[in-house]
Amino acid sequence: MTTKKSAKQAPARPPLAPHAVSRLRTDRLARAVKPFRARGGPAERCPDCRVMHSHCLCALRPVVPTQVGMCLLMADIEPLKPSNTGWLIADVVADTFAFGWARTQVDPALLTLLADPQWQPYVVFPGEFVTPERVVTALLPAVPGDALPAKRPLFVLLDATWAEAGKMFRKSPYLNQFPVLSLHPDQLSTYRLRRSSRSDHFCTSEVGALCLALAGEPRAAEVLEAYLDVFTHHYLQAKNQQPLDLEDAAHQRLRGLCWPGDAPGRQSAIHT
Ligand SMILES: [Zn+2]
Repeated sequence: MTTKKSAKQAPARPPLAPHAVSRLRTDRLARAVKPFRARGGPAERCPDCRVMHSHCLCALRPVVPTQVGMCLLMADIEPLKPSNTGWLIADVVADTFAFGWARTQVDPALLTLLADPQWQPYVVFPGEFVTPERVVTALLPAVPGDALPAKRPLFVLLDATWAEAGKMFRKSPYLNQFPVLSLHPDQLSTYRLRRSSRSDHFCTSEVGALCLALAGEPRAAEVLEAYLDVFTHHYLQAKNQQPLDLEDAAHQRLRGLCWPGDAPGRQSAIHT
């Protein structure tokens, strides 16, 4: 008997537990009236990182301990896009929640999460579109003398195109009671310089990294930034049918942050 090995076979590795965005994608696909077609069919893409199997980056998925929670409100099609970067936040931040947004209905689980007393929700949105009383540029201080433990920040990110995000913000009355966290222009301009190739748009995971930094968790912020750079490399090299460079600056930075003892070129034994 002979065994044939397919060139398209996925590399052997332990399966990753589906996270909030992954589950949302599964739900969204189940409701789809017509099949969603991303370039490179589902058979060619790794279901866990959404990149072609040949360029899979699952072995580089970092997890950092953080007190922060992330709540992604996703426009309908976002969970299905292989380029969606809210997915990367869910990879890195254990307490990531994800909900599909619809104008006419709200998931009761979202309302339960927002009302949970362990969390202080912040809606991340530009301050110039909001009444000044609601706008904050830093986390709220703990109440002096309050015997209760400090609330953990829960960042509500509108994961959508800019036009969709504006509509989601205006038409979600259940968000009106929460402060609006407006990211500081200086921080944004730093990102613009660093990412001049796409200066007009901050992707969701960049916003997530800024939130982590504001919450006093610079290492988690750095890990998410570095992971985005690694993802971008894998995604674009796969799209352009080019080989990976596992020793480029992005990979070295991520390894240095997450696995400092790892020998160069080695990307195994990261998930144990
Ligand atoms: Zn993968």
